[in-house]
Amino acid sequence: MKALTCEIKHGIFRAPMKRYTHIFFDLDNTLWDFETNSFYAMKETFLHFKLDEKGVDFPFFFETYSKHNHQLWQDYRNGKVVKKELIRLRFEQTFKELGITGIDPLEMNLFYLTEMPFQTNLVEGAVELLNYLALRGYHLFIITNGFREVQQKKLEMTGLKRFFTKIYISEDIKAPKPSRKIFEYALKSSNATKKQSLMIGDDFQTDIVGALQFGIDAAWLVSSASFQTINNQVNNYSNKVYILREIGELKQTL
Ligand SMILES: [Mg+2]
Repeated sequence: MKALTCEIKHGIFRAPMKRYTHIFFDLDNTLWDFETNSFYAMKETFLHFKLDEKGVDFPFFFETYSKHNHQLWQDYRNGKVVKKELIRLRFEQTFKELGITGIDPLEMNLFYLTEMPFQTNLVEGAVELLNYLALRGYHLFIITNGFREVQQKKLEMTGLKRFFTKIYISEDIKAPKPSRKIFEYALKSSNATKKQSLMIGDDFQTDIVGALQFGIDAAWLVSSASFQTINNQVNNYSNKVYILREIGELKQTL
């Protein structure tokens, strides 16, 4: 049964008009809790390589890894390092700092990446929101940058897959967000107009700017850290941007 909130106008019950009917979600850090899941995937990896038996403390290992990983991604964005080096260096530098020897950094990286999609922590309020939207007849989709196998596995393992009519993955479409091509493909394939469509994501450049440049409205799930810098960033576009402090707030904008 479809649940509708009705408003009374001139004594007649009328269902409110839906502005958006097709909702496109980013996956990582919008629905799938990347931060928490990477912590647990790393813990599995840490135990597999028996680092605990070598007397290494896991929280300290993860903190050290995160520091190097963060710096290397920054270097990657600035063109100082290529991805192939990044995946090796983030472990190599961690080992060096902690005095760990005898483990192949590439092997550890591969184990960690394989472990990732088996982690099932979701962003708080995500399932509740998806249930809410599904019950009200919204058409739900995913637009995600990543590898087909990995992203599909995440959706299967978490049970999120059932909510979505179609899943658009950059590897399949051969264009990552923020490129126009992936948005164009998704809207065409889902029979949506730009006016009916809303993109929700946590990454300003890929999700929000991508959607706005293509010409659809967007809802930005903002971490408190980046909350300060919002206004100057979204003012240049004619399309609407909703700011969400948590994903459940989307209900109020629909
Ligand atoms: Mg994301």
